[in-house]
Amino acid sequence: MILVADFGGTTIKLGLVQDTQIIAKTRLDALANHPMQDRLEAVAKSWESLLQEQSRSLKDCIGVALALPFIVDVRNSRVCGEFGKFPGASEIDFSEWSQSRLGLPLVMENDLRLALLGESVVGSAKDNEHVVMLAIGTGIGCAVISGGRLFHGANNRAASLLGHSCIAYNGSVGRCGNIGCAEDLASTATLGELAKSHPDFTESSLSRAARIDYETVFALAEVGDVCSLGVRDQSLTIWATLVQNAVLAYDPELVVLGGGVLKSQEIILPAIREHLRRYMPCIPWEIPIVAATLGDDAALIGGEALFRQIHLKQ
Ligand SMILES: [Zn+2]
Repeated sequence: MILVADFGGTTIKLGLVQDTQIIAKTRLDALANHPMQDRLEAVAKSWESLLQEQSRSLKDCIGVALALPFIVDVRNSRVCGEFGKFPGASEIDFSEWSQSRLGLPLVMENDLRLALLGESVVGSAKDNEHVVMLAIGTGIGCAVISGGRLFHGANNRAASLLGHSCIAYNGSVGRCGNIGCAEDLASTATLGELAKSHPDFTESSLSRAARIDYETVFALAEVGDVCSLGVRDQSLTIWATLVQNAVLAYDPELVVLGGGVLKSQEIILPAIREHLRRYMPCIPWEIPIVAATLGDDAALIGGEALFRQIHLKQ
């Protein structure tokens, strides 16, 4: 049995996982402004409670897996950069912590990569060896499985930062410092500003909405709200272009989409498929574009799978 935790921006999901099955799970408030060292201790205590509830103990566990919202140096069990979340994370040797606190070996990986691994074990990408996953929400993340293994690149950053690629070469400099960054032009983080900068915003029902999120934008677009249609269609085009770029770069047999915006998947998936059909004639076959199916469980299942790959050579 593996102890797994998935550190998100608002919650930490954690569980006991064995042979791709989640035996027990719970969640903690992320408190991402608190030191990582304190959050790790809270996670360890939660695992111990879960074990107790199952009449099990640490002796029944063979390892630990962490999914982290960072670029992860997998070999050295460290994170690269903190971006204002879980302060002190980059100073921690996570393997050392796991050994000293729990007496167990540890694996760790970027959270979206583990979600993709989970999807490839029992979810939407089961039995696929070449998969690209994009998660669209507050930001836009990307992860790749190539030849059945997570793809890392030279600096553990392969595909992870695809959301920051330039989508408008003559655009303005965005939050990350890049010109015309895709994430700035089509993600929840900037959606309010995008809507407000639309010429029809003041006439739009969006200007009176309690909250400007993609669910509202998609709902208002459906009833013909001009501003919402403009924002929606720009976002769809940018997401489709990112998918297209990822397909050209990584040659997947399947593309999985996840993240909060997929609540509107009945609009998003057909729009992206149509974009690829129309603008990628150089690839004469159709690549399935599907929605992730495991939700919050994906990275927990992926964590256990990664532990088995690394420590049990499976
Ligand atoms: Zn960016």
